[in-house]
Amino acid sequence: MPTETKAAVGNATIVSTNPATGEALAELACVTPSDVQAAVLRAKQVQPAWAATPLQDRVALLRRFQRLLSEQRDQIADLICREAGKPAVEALTTEVLVILDATEFCIRNAHDFLREEPLPHGNLAMKTKRGKLLRSPFGVIGIISPWNYPFSIPATESLSALVTGNAVVLKPSELTSLTALELASLLHEAGVPKDAFQVIVGNGVTGSALLNAEIDKLIFTGSVATGKRIAQAAAARLLPVVLELGGKDPMLVLDDADVDVASSGAVWGAFVNCGQACLSVERCYVHRSLYGAFLEACVRKTKQLQVGNGIHPQTDVGPMIHERQLHNVESQVEDARTRGARVLTGGSRLTQLGPNFYAPTVLADVTHAMQIMREETFGPVLPVMPFDTDDEAIRLANDSDYGLAASVWTRDRARGESLARRIHAGTVMVNDAVACFGISEAPHGGVKASGVGRTHGRFGLEEMVRIKYLDSDRLPGMKKVWWYGYGETFTRQIEGFVDLMFSRSLRQRLLGALRSAGAYVRKGRL
Ligand code: NAD
Repeated sequence: MPTETKAAVGNATIVSTNPATGEALAELACVTPSDVQAAVLRAKQVQPAWAATPLQDRVALLRRFQRLLSEQRDQIADLICREAGKPAVEALTTEVLVILDATEFCIRNAHDFLREEPLPHGNLAMKTKRGKLLRSPFGVIGIISPWNYPFSIPATESLSALVTGNAVVLKPSELTSLTALELASLLHEAGVPKDAFQVIVGNGVTGSALLNAEIDKLIFTGSVATGKRIAQAAAARLLPVVLELGGKDPMLVLDDADVDVASSGAVWGAFVNCGQACLSVERCYVHRSLYGAFLEACVRKTKQLQVGNGIHPQTDVGPMIHERQLHNVESQVEDARTRGARVLTGGSRLTQLGPNFYAPTVLADVTHAMQIMREETFGPVLPVMPFDTDDEAIRLANDSDYGLAASVWTRDRARGESLARRIHAGTVMVNDAVACFGISEAPHGGVKASGVGRTHGRFGLEEMVRIKYLDSDRLPGMKKVWWYGYGETFTRQIEGFVDLMFSRSLRQRLLGALRSAGAYVRKGRL
């Protein structure tokens, strides 16, 4: 664990706790706002040298990081399991594997991505010019991340930032600092300079201090409420931000879907990570002809899930992260119940298992008047509602403030893709849910309240660089046609040029060519 990240002064401390047992794993001092400033300054100082490091050397460090991660995968999965509560096998699939693949993506694509890109153009008047696009790092990227994917979220963003030549200062969730410190430890062991990747442990105050420090861009992942506060503060100093916020992802089960497959997908999509994924299936709409059979299958499969401490290999669903999150789920289920929803299974805490366990819950007969269909639940609840037509399903799917992802389930892929195009979301999957996060090439991000910008893949890399257009004129000795020395003749010539370029009649175009020809040899230019 890097010592400088823990060398904080001040009174505030945070306790990393195992949500399955309540056991305190470590007590860490929050980095003070002045230490945050100092960390960003150190990052600023080291960044030019990091950016000047040959790309092949930066890529070689990522390769070393990948090897270390692969070798230490079990210890890391175990730590994530103890700190975030998810089953260790899920930590392997949704955190370690995702990052091994994301590293591979960076290794394979960084050279092409950062290569200068010629930009051909069509403007006849400017044909003496050659243009190209250059991509350069922002400088210091601040990253503020949540607890639910405490390794894969900050790691994907950090790897894209580092490979493109940025330094990174990461403020992880106060609930999962140990996992972030482990990420730092791996990157440093791989050879990334300590000041080029720093973790500042702390809470919202620390995050706010990072936002106010001299970072050049902020990548924030978290709730809509915090995201709005961040956007307001960033606007005041025109700090560019990416906001990866909450979701209320709909799942549409069409009348030709395979009920067995779709119900398994719904149960996994709603309960993976105990429902605490931004991409969780939070609303399920099923064609009325399948509604009964689908509900029966979901309830049967949900009852088979093993809930418990994620450290045991047989555990399917772990605890929720903390009491506040549990309370939110409880109150949404209660609101649904009082408004007429049926609780088919679950619907209560499992106190015998530990402080933060909630039974995977299937609700029927829900409506859009209920909180459970409007607000992000972020817990193990699968609310299911029938629909009659595809148009109605699309209307229901789009009737939400959120737009992160969605899924359509059908045996007819063309029909699924056609409906997918009508859903307002950053990603729509046909016959799967949540899993798009594991495809490193796929952009991740939402529309509406789900956020601004993208992480992952090429679009994620684009967020880490400033684009510069470099324009070179190949006739340095020529005064440009459009420079001063205007007058009646020049106006006629330019009118002719507009005809040459854009008239719909061939005759007009030819006449335009004749009228404009003199502009190129125009005398009297200043
Ligand atoms: P949160 O908004 O409470 O906290 C996120 C981070 O922001 C934490 O590190 C926190 O310490 C920090 N923070 C809090 N107040 C701050 C402030 N005023 N200034 C700066 N930083 C501040 O969210 P959470 O509970 O950690 O995470 C759950 C939320 O994240 C859910 O809404 C979930 O949907 C969302 N999420 C979104 C994505 C995505 O990719 N779109 C991925 C994972 C989680």
